[in-house]
Amino acid sequence: MSQPTYVYSFKEGDGKDKQLLGGKGANLCEMTQFGLNVPPGFVITTATCLDYLDSSTQQLPEGVMAQVRAQMAAVEAETGKGFGDAENPLLVSVRSGSAMSMPGMMDTILNLGLNTETLQGVIAQTGDERFGYDAYRRFIQLFGKVALNVPDELFDAEFEAVKQNAHVTADVGLSGADLKEISERFLTVFQNHTGRPFPEDPYEQLEIAIKAVFGSWSGKRAVDYRREFKITPDMANGTAVNICTMVFGNRGDDSATGVAFTRNPGTGENKLYGEYLVNAQGEDVVAGIRTPKPIDKLADEMPEMARQLEQLRQNLENHYHEIQDFEFTIERGILYCLQTRNGKMNAIAMVRTSVEMVDEGLITKEQALLRIDPTHLEQMLYPRLNPHNRIAPVAQGLPASPGAASGMAIFDADRAEIVGKQQGKEIILLREETKPEDIHGFFAAQGILTSRGGKTSHAAVVARGMGKPCVAGAEGISVDVQRREARIGDHIISEGDIITIDGSSGNVYLGTLEKVEPEFTEELNLLLHWADEVSYLRVMTNADTALDATRALRYGAQGIGLCRTERMFNATDRLPVVIDMIVAEDEAQRQAALDRLLPMQRADFKAMFEVMAPKPVTIRLLDPPIHEFLPSENQLESDLERLRHLSNSVSGLTVLANSMMLLDNSEQGKDEAASMRQFVDEHLVTQAIEKKELMLKKVRMLTETNPMLGHRGVRLGITFPEIYSMQVRAILEATAECAAKDMEVHPQIMVPQVCTAEELHHVATMVDHIREEVERESGQKLNFRFGTMIEVVRACMRADSLVEEAEFFSFGTNDLTQATFSFSREDAENKFLPMYNKSGILQNNPFEVLDEKGVGKLMQLAVQWGREIKPDLSVGICGEHGGHPASIDFCHRIGLNYVSCSAPRVPVARLATAHASLKHPRA
Ligand code: PEP
Ligand code: MG
Repeated sequence: MSQPTYVYSFKEGDGKDKQLLGGKGANLCEMTQFGLNVPPGFVITTATCLDYLDSSTQQLPEGVMAQVRAQMAAVEAETGKGFGDAENPLLVSVRSGSAMSMPGMMDTILNLGLNTETLQGVIAQTGDERFGYDAYRRFIQLFGKVALNVPDELFDAEFEAVKQNAHVTADVGLSGADLKEISERFLTVFQNHTGRPFPEDPYEQLEIAIKAVFGSWSGKRAVDYRREFKITPDMANGTAVNICTMVFGNRGDDSATGVAFTRNPGTGENKLYGEYLVNAQGEDVVAGIRTPKPIDKLADEMPEMARQLEQLRQNLENHYHEIQDFEFTIERGILYCLQTRNGKMNAIAMVRTSVEMVDEGLITKEQALLRIDPTHLEQMLYPRLNPHNRIAPVAQGLPASPGAASGMAIFDADRAEIVGKQQGKEIILLREETKPEDIHGFFAAQGILTSRGGKTSHAAVVARGMGKPCVAGAEGISVDVQRREARIGDHIISEGDIITIDGSSGNVYLGTLEKVEPEFTEELNLLLHWADEVSYLRVMTNADTALDATRALRYGAQGIGLCRTERMFNATDRLPVVIDMIVAEDEAQRQAALDRLLPMQRADFKAMFEVMAPKPVTIRLLDPPIHEFLPSENQLESDLERLRHLSNSVSGLTVLANSMMLLDNSEQGKDEAASMRQFVDEHLVTQAIEKKELMLKKVRMLTETNPMLGHRGVRLGITFPEIYSMQVRAILEATAECAAKDMEVHPQIMVPQVCTAEELHHVATMVDHIREEVERESGQKLNFRFGTMIEVVRACMRADSLVEEAEFFSFGTNDLTQATFSFSREDAENKFLPMYNKSGILQNNPFEVLDEKGVGKLMQLAVQWGREIKPDLSVGICGEHGGHPASIDFCHRIGLNYVSCSAPRVPVARLATAHASLKHPRA
């Protein structure tokens, strides 16, 4: 049986097969094959990684090393060097790379192939002892750490000791002799920690390194990252290992190394963006050990290299039709491209580059839409600092990822997780620099602040990828993790102090600063306009006030898909009237309260119609159980206790009020005393007690064991018909008033919690009756639609009969999810769901991501049965899932007509509906 191919050279690997070669490996193959100057090398496949991890022998599959040796021979032939050759040694890098980019999550080893003999070869060849030992000590440390878990601190301590002895502060100040001493000390550290000498045989080194990189796939960092970003095995399974000839950016002043984006990943500007360091290795840039120079400077220092780099930028974009994030090295005047991948950008840059690349003819409009992840658009709606803030920053760093955030300063990732995630506080992770092992701190933080490192440092890259604000390299801040404080000049920030960072300017402030909503950019408007052109689903919004509606309109909503009228009842001027209605002892009293509510509701609806005209406005009749408008039983009991106490001390308080007047004769003093006298008026106190007692009695009467399954929605509307009657009248009178002004309005009355066609019929009859009355009174012909929420399992099952009474359906997937799973939507998310998600019992939180197989199945049936009777039935969704891209895709596939979501998610939904249409075109 012939052996599988475990290893491919960069010249032969299929550059499209990321699953097999990993993203980095596939790209190295592709770059090599389209003519870029890539150092020769080869890739060991992800399949080999899985085989290795599956086997219990801790051995690479048989034949892997033989194939590696064959490929190495080819590289030797191409470079003229020998792996392990003492005269002309070939050194290689060993890097991980899976199908999905997981920056910094797995391990890399550089300068592999160095040993005591080859080191001398390198020194003899380069005539540079310093260079040789610098490469050697880096290799010992990385190999030790990655392959055999020797802690960095052990190496760092030796490094610092030599630096101190040599009286130098920067690494570049170390001499060849210093680096030689460091290498020797590192070898001892290695031997002491591992109990074995450092391996001399390059192939032994290579085999250990390959196993270590494969092993890092199942390391904690990588596993956490995949869980957080929901990277499933079908997206990426195992890591490839890329073995690549080393080229050196630290061979003198004609050498350099850098990282760059073909366009600015923060703004989208069409200009090379990046950083480089002369005479340095790539890790120095990424780790933020030395502060790199902006790429613009290269034109002054090495003009020919700058010209070639610009050419490389164009070649990359013309080939990939996408912004690239690439690493380069200049070794003695020769430019090499070491890796490239699609650039991670913030949403602003994604949108701008999409629109500009269409203009440049690099991509089509469809590609422009599809290259943006809809959820990223939410970033564009992130708050920024109010430009009118006059507060001076206390420090400044690099604007590494835009947006503003405030929170408690926390100095390490573990604590960030506790305070941010578990205690639910807003935090800013404040570190000297971040490392991949800090990733859980990023997840927990609102923003990241570092005192060292550039715009492509770990902190900057990861924060940008997550869309979190980041200020990097704020050098005026010195962080002392031990003391849990940071110093800025004389000022000390202790852990827990609130700070604000502005990732767009790089400024750092003390305290919380006011933020403002960002505006839509021209490019975003244009892009979403393209989205609307291809979308089948319409995007409506859930809005309860005219203000929300105005905002949603600005974001491109095509109507209101859900107005929850109870939110109007909660306004401070309404609540007392609503309470009067609830505690009413007879119908007359209740009607009196409703009569006061009617004009308020009419004005509410009219304002919504005016904002949205001529777009549809869907108003849902009252849904929650009415006791929700009353204070809780506990609250009332304690209010009553205080009132009774007050009543007992009335006379004492009257004296107090009088003496207040004597003490403070100002206007305010008089007012306070007057209001106190009023309060202590025995009669008023008695009245207050009576009212609270009544409320308490009502609360006890109305209290239910399962209120979410109780007296709410249409059940309330049928048992207390005056409430729905008032609301329907308010809607229709507002419609009549608009019609009288020739305003085109499209109200839609929607009934919640419907289980049976009879319920709907009952309300429909009432609506019809009121319509007749209002038409008669106003002389206007009223046009509106009448429909139902579908949020109860029985409603799905009886869709064919409900449709007889309804002109539209709107899925209330919040309640429908609750009902389908029998999970309380109030409690599940902070009780067992996190554990269910973590252990894989449920892939997602079903209240966030629509459960297609269960809830979705019910929806599909309801659509099908409803349309069998009424083929043109309009069907939408107004639960939270209406703003979630994957759920929107499902809604498209089952043939809904619209989705409705909160205003900030409208742009997200507009793009998601376009994605759904492009991916699943309708006949
Ligand atoms: C729903 O249940 O999905 C819905 C939109 O209604 P509410 O969240 O107000 O119950
Ligand atoms: Mg509901």
